[in-house]
Amino acid sequence: MRIAELLEDRASADIVSCPPGVALREAVRLLADHRIGALPVIEGDAVVGIVSERDVLYCLAAHGAAALDKSVGEVMTAPVVSVDCATSCTEALALMTARRFRHLPVVEGGTMRGFLSIGDLVKVRLTEVSHEAEAMRDYIRLA
Ligand code: AMP
Repeated sequence: MRIAELLEDRASADIVSCPPGVALREAVRLLADHRIGALPVIEGDAVVGIVSERDVLYCLAAHGAAALDKSVGEVMTAPVVSVDCATSCTEALALMTARRFRHLPVVEGGTMRGFLSIGDLVKVRLTEVSHEAEAMRDYIRLA
């Protein structure tokens, strides 16, 4: 399945994001309120970084409670690795596995179209594998 198909019933307006200028404590509040693990950091239309719970953890370990007063721009990871709508879910999953992160913005023409977690892609892959197994069982039964 292509990422375009996965995003068909999702509006980009629903993506929770934050600008680089806000304090880390605001980003932590968004992560907690929405029960999510990462936020794309947006400036204009562009994704300029990503701040995940890992970044919060490392920053807290390094700076203690003062970490929460840092700006998201200081703590985020940049540049961001992204994919486009034509990428397959399997390719995106392989990219996440190789780079050891769990989030991927989907960018088209400089604008973010989606924001995927590894859970979204594992779900697609499990459905595909189960359909492949079913097709294989049918093939064996009819052979
Ligand atoms: P995660 O596993 O997604 O929580 O993130 C682990 C680390 O990788 C954190 O430092 C994130 O900021 C960073 N990270 C997550 N996703 C991406 C991405 N698509 N591009 C670049 N860095 C990322």
